[in-house]
Amino acid sequence: MTAGLYNARARLSVLLLERLAPGGQVLTTDRVENYPGFPDGVSGFELMDRMKTQAERFGLKIQNEEVIRLELSEKRKAVFLNSGTLESKTIILACGATWKKLGIEGEDRLMGRGISFCATCDGPFYRDEEVAVIGGGDTAVEEAIFLTRFVKKIYLVHRRDKLRATKLLQERAMSEEKITLVWDTIPLRILGQNSVEAVEMRNVKTGDVQRKEVKGVFVFIGTIPNTDLVKGSVNLDENGFVLTDDKMQTSIPGVFAAGDIRSKLFRQISTAVGEGAAASYSAERYLESLH
Ligand SMILES: Cc1cc2nc3c(=O)[nH]c(=O)nc-3n(C[C@H](O)[C@H](O)[C@H](O)COP(=O)(O)OP(=O)(O)OC[C@H]3O[C@@H](n4cnc5c(N)ncnc54)[C@H](O)[C@@H]3O)c2cc1C
Repeated sequence: MTAGLYNARARLSVLLLERLAPGGQVLTTDRVENYPGFPDGVSGFELMDRMKTQAERFGLKIQNEEVIRLELSEKRKAVFLNSGTLESKTIILACGATWKKLGIEGEDRLMGRGISFCATCDGPFYRDEEVAVIGGGDTAVEEAIFLTRFVKKIYLVHRRDKLRATKLLQERAMSEEKITLVWDTIPLRILGQNSVEAVEMRNVKTGDVQRKEVKGVFVFIGTIPNTDLVKGSVNLDENGFVLTDDKMQTSIPGVFAAGDIRSKLFRQISTAVGEGAAASYSAERYLESLH
């Protein structure tokens, strides 16, 4: 949306293709408190509606259609849609990423109402509460440690009997008195009517089922980049995210990437917005270089 806004404002001919409602993951966020300019926070829907209105004011065209295939090379950039094929001189990939879900009862219903994929975003909502963190890799352990700033107690639930996270993080988690490790355990269902009230879990070795009363469940079992369209064309990192330089340039000249699809440290709205602006600037410079 930011790349579209900048390029439309620069009076380029630009089309934003979106398969769902424009706004991406932010639309699934109940409240955003860490995006600058909104001292009282803002609903995810309102933030994206404002971005869309602003971009459209500068003439951004949004077409509600899925890109089903891309053909990308230095010479040709073709976008295949169900309604036909488009050719473009430059392309900005901003397809985002999808957080892996647990796939258990209660998860979809309580998403954004106590279930979260982002401790930085949602941690402060759980001040002095008890929460569960699901996962055992670096992200899960880092986020659990971050949550100790706010919450009263954290159950770090892992399906194995040792964490996958790096040794240093493991040691920190284990020495943190607010964190209780729940080994060999998988969540079965998340309970609550309008918000999370408890999580039911099963020990995979003993079969014992236990319930913990928690107000939040933070799920960190991995992120899948939406890179199916570019596998085999642009260079990806070992986890499948798009590699770029600091100008957002991918391995194919004239193809740029911004936001959660990129290989990077921190996936947030503010970082996606900054990269969208940088990618649009690079795309503009690239177009000038063609003349
Ligand atoms: C529940 C939740 C809460 C969050 N809370 C916060 C928060 O409070 N603060 C914060 O800063 N960040 C938060 N985040 C992270 C933030 O939402 C992301 O970092 C940000 O949305 C990334 O933006 P993006 O444009 O790169 O990708 P996305 O938001 O993932 O958007 C990508 C878009 O591309 C579309 N798309 C993908 N493939 C195709 C295709 N083939 N054809 C057409 N369209 C396609 C998708 O439909 C999607 O709309 C949260 C994330 C989640 C899931």
